[in-house]
Amino acid sequence: MIEICEVGPRDGLQNECKMIFTETKVELITRLIDAGIRNIEAVSFVNPKVVPQMADAEEVLKLLPNRKDVRYGGLVLSRSGLERALKTNVDYLHVVTATSNAFNLKNAKRTVEQAVEELSKVIHEGAATNKGVAGVLGTAFGCPFEGEVPLSRVLVVAEKFMKAGCSEITLADTTGMANPFQVQNVVTAFYDEFGKELSLGLHFHNTRGLGLANTLAGYQAGVRKFDSSIAGLGGCPFAPKAVGNVCTEDMVNMFNGMGVETGTNLNQLIEIAKWMENNMDRPLDGMLMKAGIA
Ligand code: ZN
Repeated sequence: MIEICEVGPRDGLQNECKMIFTETKVELITRLIDAGIRNIEAVSFVNPKVVPQMADAEEVLKLLPNRKDVRYGGLVLSRSGLERALKTNVDYLHVVTATSNAFNLKNAKRTVEQAVEELSKVIHEGAATNKGVAGVLGTAFGCPFEGEVPLSRVLVVAEKFMKAGCSEITLADTTGMANPFQVQNVVTAFYDEFGKELSLGLHFHNTRGLGLANTLAGYQAGVRKFDSSIAGLGGCPFAPKAVGNVCTEDMVNMFNGMGVETGTNLNQLIEIAKWMENNMDRPLDGMLMKAGIA
């Protein structure tokens, strides 16, 4: 069994030019729950001036079905984001930093060290409430500006985030630079360093067509938690040439074929992907919704 964290409503929509109504976001998330998804990155508490698409985070959370068996996550990048998040019913804070200095300086105007120091306080405060905190380490497999990101640095950031109170870590390939052997090496290094009980997730983008290959490599290395985005929506708005996340229904189709349970209904996911494509007024990247299951 694998666990999917559906990031379409956040990472996906954040990179779409077309503004999506709050009601449509709520319908999307509700339909995903009906299709079996239980972990959803629903919103982002970023500055609405920087990312207008996410400005309705509080409103979306208010309108979502109140389900004990579903976990709603919200992205937090700063103290002001934390303050907003703590006033909502969001279940999990996804606290994010890039692990590359060049990327961080460009997008957050601070070094990795400065980001970790500031965010450790945010994590500590968040973890002291009734919410869970997940640490998301961006550019963990490479940086478009810096190139290689040393694994030792990624491990150090993970350790500091866990010490501050993160109960899980997600490694994000923000701009789709990872390859399957590298994924295997990084995941193995993480389990060696922190033990097999580490709750580790992987977040891949399909920028260079390696999203599913990297997902499989992660699975073979022991990971059971993967981020993906319905219809392949999404990308990172700050990264050059970034494209969508690994597509949820394509990934489910792969695991179904391998006999690995995902807890989701593939036919329903395909219907949601098609519906979402209609909403976006542009062809989306998902392949299964074009090809059919078999
Ligand atoms: Zn992403």
